[in-house]
Amino acid sequence: MDHFDYQNGELFAEEVPLARIAETVGTPFYCYSTATLERHYKIFSEAFDDKEATVCFAVKANGNIAVLKTLGNLGAGADVVSMGELKRALAAGIPTDKIVFSGVGKTAEELAFAVEKEIFQINVESAPELETLSAVASSLGKEQAIAIRINPDVDAKTHTKIATGKSENKFGIEWDKAPEIFAKAAALPGIKVAGVAVHIGSQILDLKPFGEAFARMGDIIAALRVDGHDISRLDLGGGLGIPYEADQLSSPEDYATVVKETTAGLDCHLIFEPGRMIAGNAGVLVSKVVYVKEGETRDFAIVDAAMNDLVRPSMYEAHHDIIPVKQPAGGANIRPMDVVGPICETGDTFAKQRPLPPLESDDLVAFRSAGAYGAVMSSTYNARPLIPEVLVKGNAFSIIRKRVEVEEQMANERVPDWLKG
Ligand SMILES: *Cc1c(COP(=O)(O)O)cnc(C)c1O
Repeated sequence: MDHFDYQNGELFAEEVPLARIAETVGTPFYCYSTATLERHYKIFSEAFDDKEATVCFAVKANGNIAVLKTLGNLGAGADVVSMGELKRALAAGIPTDKIVFSGVGKTAEELAFAVEKEIFQINVESAPELETLSAVASSLGKEQAIAIRINPDVDAKTHTKIATGKSENKFGIEWDKAPEIFAKAAALPGIKVAGVAVHIGSQILDLKPFGEAFARMGDIIAALRVDGHDISRLDLGGGLGIPYEADQLSSPEDYATVVKETTAGLDCHLIFEPGRMIAGNAGVLVSKVVYVKEGETRDFAIVDAAMNDLVRPSMYEAHHDIIPVKQPAGGANIRPMDVVGPICETGDTFAKQRPLPPLESDDLVAFRSAGAYGAVMSSTYNARPLIPEVLVKGNAFSIIRKRVEVEEQMANERVPDWLKG
């Protein structure tokens, strides 16, 4: 459920007509709903009210400071995967004791920054990273709590580009190497082994792979405890999928049941890193139809948003529902159309042969489920501006990232002396 609905024939974000925002900020733009962000965070976190649990929002899904603050106000922590994301989380006021740092390629510089900030946990993904972190923390005179990310070798049954839990993926330590790496970690200075981490991928709708992965973590924790390790934390990562299409289901409650069944009796502080589940359906991308081109074999709606603004369709063959901002009349003539952007690549296609009501130039359309992995993945390809992000709360809206025009982009460029004069 979200808070983007038709009222009196017009699409609203909460109590604000999207057309009014378009008049103010221009198109295209991202629009997020505070009520939806809050609702999703609460559904997730309340499912674990009876557990010692920390919910760390995955900043990579949507790193806007205002979004992070909205969630932080409800008690959310942050899962970050770069120094930049860590800086964002800190700027949003997320307490350091709720920040987890994940990722396969953290540099010594990034690790040092995190250790100095005394964040809750660093999830280590390789033996060399373990050594680097130990050296960095020791030289700073600190002891950093860590979890070690285990690759459970399960098939998450999601798009290959976002599956992370198979042994051939680059993530984590192979599960049968866990005893070895934990023994190594225990012997190193500057680190305190606190837990085990797992994250098997993203947009996972089938709960079975979660169950398999979490059960494997339970086995590993039991074995590590026998080896004398003090394992008090279990980080279960993110990955719960969302309904991009009407027939898809995702239930935080069912997910919680799987978690509780597979971790019962482990006596661990649970950590979660949901991203998409919280932000995905809390955002839309609003775009304007530039032209409707009727062809021999198909009709095209050419819109002013492009793959640089929302890359998911061209990168992951992702589906986004596309709906007109003005509600179509009952009995409107629905026909298949290709919805495409203006970029000079065939990949700049949002939808093929999508049944749509009649559209014409200047009509506004909304791409649903664009709140996660939307704005954060945008680029300036084709010298296009970075588009604005708008946050709605009730009947108020605020621009939370302004449009970054090409003049500002060019201002960062320099012409070498030999090209001058
Ligand atoms: C991407 C990622 C997440 C968030 O994934 P979602 O599918 O958005 O929930 C959580 N943890 C790690 C380590 C990740 O890489």
